[in-house]
Amino acid sequence: PSYKRRIFYEEFLTSMGASQSELYNWRGSGMSVMEMSHRGKEFLSIIQKAESDLRSLLYIPPDYTILFLQGGATTQFAAAPLNLCSSPTDAVDYIVTGSWGDKAFKEAAKYCNPKSIWSGKSDKYTKIPNFDSLNQTPGAKFLHICANETIHGVEFKSYPTPAGQKEVLVADMSSNFCSKPVDVTKFGMIYAGAQKNVGPSGVTIVIIRSDLIGYAQAITPVMLDYKIHADNNSLYNTPPCYGIYMCGLVFEDLVEQGGLAEVEKKNVRKGSLLYDAIDGSKGFFRCPVEKSVRSLMNVPFTLAKPELEAEFVKEAAKEKMVQLKGHRSVGGMRASIYNAMPLAGVEKLVAFMKDFQARHDH
Ligand code: PLP
Repeated sequence: PSYKRRIFYEEFLTSMGASQSELYNWRGSGMSVMEMSHRGKEFLSIIQKAESDLRSLLYIPPDYTILFLQGGATTQFAAAPLNLCSSPTDAVDYIVTGSWGDKAFKEAAKYCNPKSIWSGKSDKYTKIPNFDSLNQTPGAKFLHICANETIHGVEFKSYPTPAGQKEVLVADMSSNFCSKPVDVTKFGMIYAGAQKNVGPSGVTIVIIRSDLIGYAQAITPVMLDYKIHADNNSLYNTPPCYGIYMCGLVFEDLVEQGGLAEVEKKNVRKGSLLYDAIDGSKGFFRCPVEKSVRSLMNVPFTLAKPELEAEFVKEAAKEKMVQLKGHRSVGGMRASIYNAMPLAGVEKLVAFMKDFQARHDH
């Protein structure tokens, strides 16, 4: 999950308390969740609790359906147009703020007629457009955004209103899902791979306005048809049971933390600490992203002296701070500070950055 990018692996183990104590014997059932029938009462209680906790965390209204699916967010790049466009000629708009949005846009071209109405590529994906300047296609079936660009560290802080008749805004929230409150009613559909903030890879969550379900194109594979999954409460075939169970534990934990408003406060504190350190370094470190749209989850930064970057990553690893190398497509560094990263982890990184600068800035 996010954990791949986490600085303190030990913290991950600590956060897994329940799943460890229940590993071989879930609540006295004599079974591990891995052994259960997905149709048995035990697993049904697990998936229903996960769904209801997620519903309360995000205040998801009753007219929205929650699906627990497989195939990663990448599968949703195809599933969204297959389900929301009744014909491959249907127009759809994409705002491309980074490489994930671009991937979604390119995949959609196989199943509908997508138009990139704004792209941040020429600015190296460091911006979000001014919504008033968007030239949306009349009759577009939906408007797609990537709410947080994981690689480029660009995050929507507010959302555009889609122009189409049904006002369907579709958001890939893979990398900021459950990191803050979101007004679900602004969206026709939200999807997210679980692995950043809410559980292990293998689970993909779709939250969709129920009136949009049931219009999939005829060629839609059964496994991508939201109606099939909705009619079967995400149990049409064997779901990723263990992953859903883990997501449920994380949802429980987020509820216990006081809900997403509290989670957001912690993320704001972590993000501010790191961005302030970058901005206060007198140019030694730099974050290329426009200040107003900087991601609270993924913080990309570079060094004024790029020849020091490899050294930075190496020295950080010695201090047990790993996964700091930027994505291969952009270089530099990136600190992914998902929900599970404690403030202490960011404090440690910031102290290391200051020390590194003191030793190399001459
Ligand atoms: N969208 C975003 C914003 C992502 O960060 C990722 C993965 O990192 C994906 C989509 C692809 O997700 P998956 O690997 O679950 O298919």
